[in-house]
Amino acid sequence: METKILKGHPVSSAYIKSLNEEIAKLRKKNIIPGLAAILVGDNPASKVYIKSKERVFKKNNCLTKTFLLDGDSKEQDVINIVKSINSDPLYHGILIQLPLPKHINARSILLEIDPKKDVDGFHPINLGNLFEGNPQFIPCTPHGIIQILKYYNIPICGRHVVIVGRSNIVGKPMFALLAQNFEYGNATVTICHTRTKNLNTFTKKADIIVAAVGIPNLIKGDMVSPGVDIIDVGINRVEDKSSKGYYLTGDVDYNSVLGIANSITPVPGGVGPMTITMLLSNTIESAKKMLEY
Ligand code: NDP
Repeated sequence: METKILKGHPVSSAYIKSLNEEIAKLRKKNIIPGLAAILVGDNPASKVYIKSKERVFKKNNCLTKTFLLDGDSKEQDVINIVKSINSDPLYHGILIQLPLPKHINARSILLEIDPKKDVDGFHPINLGNLFEGNPQFIPCTPHGIIQILKYYNIPICGRHVVIVGRSNIVGKPMFALLAQNFEYGNATVTICHTRTKNLNTFTKKADIIVAAVGIPNLIKGDMVSPGVDIIDVGINRVEDKSSKGYYLTGDVDYNSVLGIANSITPVPGGVGPMTITMLLSNTIESAKKMLEY
């Protein structure tokens, strides 16, 4: 079986085309969708993500500003910035770049974000709306994954999806999207985590696997069944002797599933580009909603 490679860039380009029409309409009303990002400390992966986001927002004529704070900033310093962005009409979205330094409680910061500007969709009100089946802001990575499945005509309805990983950012909202009676939902969904016994018995029964674990090459060819569609969310830095000092790899042992899987998203270049695209989409949605308030 030839495994189809589900690249994220064509999906992202097509989606951004439709967003550009929305951006143009808003600009005619003198509204420029704006995102404020808060980066605390100098985590190298976070810096790369923030730079990519700035590039995409600028390229699409949207506003973006990153508030940089020293790694030893206090929780209250971050909260003060969140509060000032909440009341600043220039910004329709707020992003807190995770992970935050250990002395800062991410949940305390998250709760300070105005849910109407929570374009990451991580605030309990937005996660609650999603689980209720009435999403306002859908977390970007799971939303991007749905767009990949849709673009490549991978069926979801009635299939068994095994999600490995239960984080609030990927695993749980992914479950909420796939299990609901949505157009791109109605799957039967199993969630696996560190206490799951015999992970491979579940992955072998999957029609679709979503791997969001953070362990390089955890899912191997002998753990999956022929014809499975695989979404590899993992972005793991593995040190090597290259000039960069590392390479990126997913949670799935890519080479070992080739020829067995029906399809797989590559790492990098699969889910990653869609996460920023959906952040842009949510920021535009937020700007449109603010016109209505
Ligand atoms: P978290 O660390 O928050 O969650 C990891 C999850 O994996 C946990 O639920 C954990 O279980 C589970 N897990 C860990 N080890 C195993 C194991 N051996 N078997 C089964 N389950 C296991 O990670 P995130 O969800 O934030 O991210 C996951 C990966 O996705 C990372 O590589 C991250 O970089 C990447 N990522 C990529 C994005 C993109 O745009 N492509 C966006 C966001 C994340 P338990 O709950 O029991 O601890």
